[in-house]
Order: sequence, then structure tokens, then C-alpha cells
Amino acid sequence: MDAPLTLIGSGMAALGLVRQLRTRDAQRPITLISADSGDDYSKPLLSTGFAKRLPPERLAARSALDVADQLGVVMRPHTRVTAIDPSARTLSIGSETLPYGELVIATGAAPRVPFAIPEVVASRVFTINDLDDYRAFHAALESLGRPARVAIIGAGLVGCEFANDLSAGGHGVSLVAPEATPLPRLLPEPLGRVLGEAFTASGIELHLGRQLRVLDSQGSQVAVRLDDGQTLEADLVLVATGLVPRTALAAEAGLAVSGAGIMVDRTLCTSQPGIYALGDVACVAGVNAMYVQPLQASAKALAATLAGTPTQVSYGAWPVLVKTPLLPCVALPPTRPVARWRIEGEGADLAALAEAEDGRLIGFALTGACVRRKVELARAAPPLLVY
Ligand SMILES: Cc1cc2nc3c(=O)[nH]c(=O)nc-3n(C[C@H](O)[C@H](O)[C@H](O)COP(=O)(O)OP(=O)(O)OC[C@H]3O[C@@H](n4cnc5c(N)ncnc54)[C@H](O)[C@@H]3O)c2cc1C
Repeated sequence: MDAPLTLIGSGMAALGLVRQLRTRDAQRPITLISADSGDDYSKPLLSTGFAKRLPPERLAARSALDVADQLGVVMRPHTRVTAIDPSARTLSIGSETLPYGELVIATGAAPRVPFAIPEVVASRVFTINDLDDYRAFHAALESLGRPARVAIIGAGLVGCEFANDLSAGGHGVSLVAPEATPLPRLLPEPLGRVLGEAFTASGIELHLGRQLRVLDSQGSQVAVRLDDGQTLEADLVLVATGLVPRTALAAEAGLAVSGAGIMVDRTLCTSQPGIYALGDVACVAGVNAMYVQPLQASAKALAATLAGTPTQVSYGAWPVLVKTPLLPCVALPPTRPVARWRIEGEGADLAALAEAEDGRLIGFALTGACVRRKVELARAAPPLLVY
């Protein structure tokens, strides 16, 4: 029998691809190997669960067993691929060797933690990047039996969403980041400032313009020491300081990788014929967006290619919807140099329009009531990112 099409990973990229492929080919043998539980869940919902006090099982739409049944695949959850041998067309799981027909690497991205976590506080310091992480953090919150004091390090999309969500769930939140305003890569300063004001008004404590110096144990608390000499006391610490594509397997197998991910062309093919990469781990024609919309477009194109119709992916720039109900924000970050930002609106309802030298709209950011303008503005902004 032919070796199966094999996917490494069971996140939205891998499962999205299998769903697309099954609409074209119901029979092809497919094996999914995943380091995590293999449950089908929507990762963006992880930063909305604490406000609604959702236990982890409510976030999983289907168990790995149900996924395998429904999609007609062999699923190997809690199994880590340790090596790929492109010339033999095999992969290793420890001492076990498995042949593959074609291979798709969908290993996602891992949290980047830019400081040491001392052993003595390690059980109280978390990142949340998958359902298993959510399970662990949820269990730690529950074990306190009371509202927690959580220090969040990092004020990007993930840090801000968890700050809003945990605060809405009744927990005390301190948000620490070196930048002057929250969401620095998505919102120009005046808009970041109004988001910060909305956070402060709801009781979230902001420590902006501050670096974490060290984490320490202080009785049952974690002492979060900042570079201005302040010490915050927290029951738990959540680190949200960015993600880095998991390229190690590919790099060790000799595939072309960069800091932005596994290099693939617009057919999602790596430098090695027969091996593809998809989702947060893939840098498609020089762009790694790390959002759902581009990975869905890529999954659709790759499914067509794997079913025998070579297809190139293309996708536009899309507005990012930030899940901060305290002050809704939308951003379409400019992909070209900005000559000027034009700020319109008042109070917390602001629109920042990024213009190129020739006056053309090349991106925008919106807060409060102005988020209504997203469709109109997205139509006016440049359409293509990968083309
Ligand atoms: C809190 C949060 C909120 C988000 N909100 C949004 C949003 O609102 N909108 C949006 O567009 N995007 C959002 N994103 C980003 C989006 O969720 C991701 O782009 C997307 O889920 C990535 O999917 P993936 O399948 O590429 O990676 P992952 O979901 O990370 O999956 C990677 C898979 O690879 C497996 N794996 C890794 N290494 C190995 C190995 N060696 N062997 C076997 N398996 C392995 C893992 O176990 C996992 O199954 C959010 C991200 C986070 C963290």
C-alpha cells in the first residue's frame, strides 16, 4: 500500500487542510501526528474563555477520536515527531520510523520567552498558546478558589486580549510592557492611549514603559520586579511576549528556513519537493502573517495541489479584529512605509488612517464606534499581501 499523506500538527492549519482535502478526495490515506491532545478547537477563542468561565472541555469542539472518525484519518495525539529524513521519505518518532507519501509540516509557532523563569516560580508562570496550556492555566486559577491576581507580561494582541478577558472574569490584572501604550504594533499611540484608558477605567493596572527585571518567589506569591524598582505581587504570571515559528524539525532535515518560518513558495512547497508547510510555521513567498485568514486561504490552495491541481495561494491584507470588548479595536497594519497618520474622531472613537507619500490609504486602525468603518476602509486599502 502507498505510504499515507502525513501531517505534523493538528491545529487550525492541519485540520483546515484535511477538511478541504476531504471535499476533493474521500479515500486518500491520511495520518495526523500531533504533540498535543489533537482535540479540534478554535485557538482565537482561548482569549475569550475566562470572562465566560468556560472550562477547557467547552472550548474543544471535538475530541481527537471524533476528529479521526469524522475525517477518516489515522490520528496519533500526544506524539512528537523528532526527525524527518527527506531522502528516505520517512519521519521518526523517537526510535520508531514511519514512511510518508507526501508530508505537510503544520507545527505552528511556540511562545517566545525572552527571560529566565526561576525553578522556584515555574509552576506559577504560564504561556497560553494551545488548549493544553489553557487547561493548565484554568486549573491553576481554579485551585486558588478565589479571584486571582495575574501579572501579564507583554501588551501585544495576546497580552491585551487576556488582560481584558481575565479582568472581565473577575480577576485582578497588572499589564507590564516596555512600550508606552498597549498594542504598539497594531495601534498608533493616540489609539493605544485610549485603549489603555479603557483598561485603567475597568481596574486593569498598567505598567507601561517598564521592563521586567526578574521573577522571584515571595511566600505563595510571585514577586514581579520591574526596572523602576517596583515589585508587583501576583498569584500567577502570564507571559505573552510573542511567538516564534517551530522550524527546528525542518531546519535539521535541511529544508530552507528563516527567522520568519519554513520558506515555501505560493504552492506551499518547501525547498524539498513533496514536503509542504502551512500555518504559523510557514513563510509564504516572504510573508508569515500568523493569523487564521491566510492559513485558511493556504489550506484551500494546498488541498487543490495535493488533489492533483497545482494551485498558488494569494491573499489580501485583512483587518485584524482585536477581542478587547472594553474598547473594540480593528487594525490593518500598513505593509509599506507610512508618510503620515491622519487621526479622526474624538474621545475613545478614533480612526487613524495611514497614508503613503502619494496620499493613498495604505492601512488603518480604529477604536470604539469607529470600528464600523472597517469594511469601507478595507476596500480602499491595498488588497494584496501574498500574490
Ligand atoms: C490567544 C490567541 C488568540 C488569537 N486570536 C486570533 C484572532 O482573533 N484572529 C486570528 O486570525 N488569529 C488569532 N490568533 C492566531 C491563530 O490562532 C493562529 O494563527 C492559528 O491558530 C495557528 O494555527 P496552526 O495550526 O498553524 O498552529 P498551532 O495551532 O500552533 O498548531 C501546531 C500543531 O503542531 C503540533 N506540533 C508542534 N510540533 C510538533 C512535533 N514536533 N510533532 C508533532 N506535532 C507537533 C502542535 O501540537 C499543534 O497541534 C490567536 C492566537 C492566540 C495564541
